[in-house]
Amino acid sequence: MAARKLPLLMVTKPANVFYLTGFRGSAGVTIWSGTEALLLVDPRYTLQAQEQAHGVEVVEVRDGLLRAAARWFRKRREKRAGFEESFLTWEGFQALRRGSPAAMKWLPAGSLLENLRVVKDDLEISQIRKACLLTSEVYEEIVGEVRPGISEKDIAGELEFRMRRKGAEGAAFETIVASGARAALPHARASAKLLEPGELVILDLGAILGGYMADMTRTLYLGTPGRRVRSLYGSVLNAQERAMEDLRAGVKAQKVDAAARRSLARKGLADRFTHSTGHGVGIEIHEPPRLGKSEKKRVPAGAVVTVEPGIYLKDFGGIRIEDTVLVTETGTEVLTEAVKDRWWIE
Ligand code: ZN
Ligand code: ZN
Repeated sequence: MAARKLPLLMVTKPANVFYLTGFRGSAGVTIWSGTEALLLVDPRYTLQAQEQAHGVEVVEVRDGLLRAAARWFRKRREKRAGFEESFLTWEGFQALRRGSPAAMKWLPAGSLLENLRVVKDDLEISQIRKACLLTSEVYEEIVGEVRPGISEKDIAGELEFRMRRKGAEGAAFETIVASGARAALPHARASAKLLEPGELVILDLGAILGGYMADMTRTLYLGTPGRRVRSLYGSVLNAQERAMEDLRAGVKAQKVDAAARRSLARKGLADRFTHSTGHGVGIEIHEPPRLGKSEKKRVPAGAVVTVEPGIYLKDFGGIRIEDTVLVTETGTEVLTEAVKDRWWIE
């Protein structure tokens, strides 16, 4: 806040409210000065906030969180305050401005909090590690049940049920199960389609545990893969390995992306890799840093990112292999350890 010349800061994005206070409700506003930290909640959340929040004063508000925030700002001498421009509606901003001093200068905080969240502390890493372990276990349990005749939805439902049964708070995102030609859609929704012999199946899943997420993709083949499928699978696995080799503290994000892209280009698959190589994972499923083509920022030690090259071929299907990894000074530690070399189901 000092570096950005923000004596006051108002945070409204739930992921950032959780990061700063520990409160996990869906609505809450936290405001910070150099000496004070407040968490404003409505009566639905008072008890939960008192239980979960640490290091902030919990204030129950009955007439609108932003209106109450505006009242607090009215009592300040400072006239500059940061707000989260990507997580405040126009209506909310108007309410805030109407209630706060006319001289108050509202400054977009940009990714102030998201940037702080890039480097995970030990507690965060241990939560993500647990979420990843649970996700890997659930995947390995279910592999034996993936077979022709079962629907994508049934597999997705089973994965999510088992995550919860193992203690997860739920799925970190809607589980993707995409088979056959549908696997050519990188973010296909699980449908009622039944799996058929000779198809590729992409399973993209992640549990949420203690507020932290995991993200993992495996691709299976139903039957004995022929030469083409083997070669394509090998190309994607190879691209993931190349990217991992370059990933360590201090590397430019775009260099990791380039490693995966170069590897696929050598197999003539460059134009089939239609998304970036990876993204940060933590309180949100997609958070900085992004491992993309034009990302010049360096990846710090303690960042948790996915490495997930994929190829998508219309009418044929797709292959994606994704792991969540912890970035260290010397390289990476893979947190989603589920098998990748047992990928076809006879
Ligand atoms: Zn994923
Ligand atoms: Zn991902």
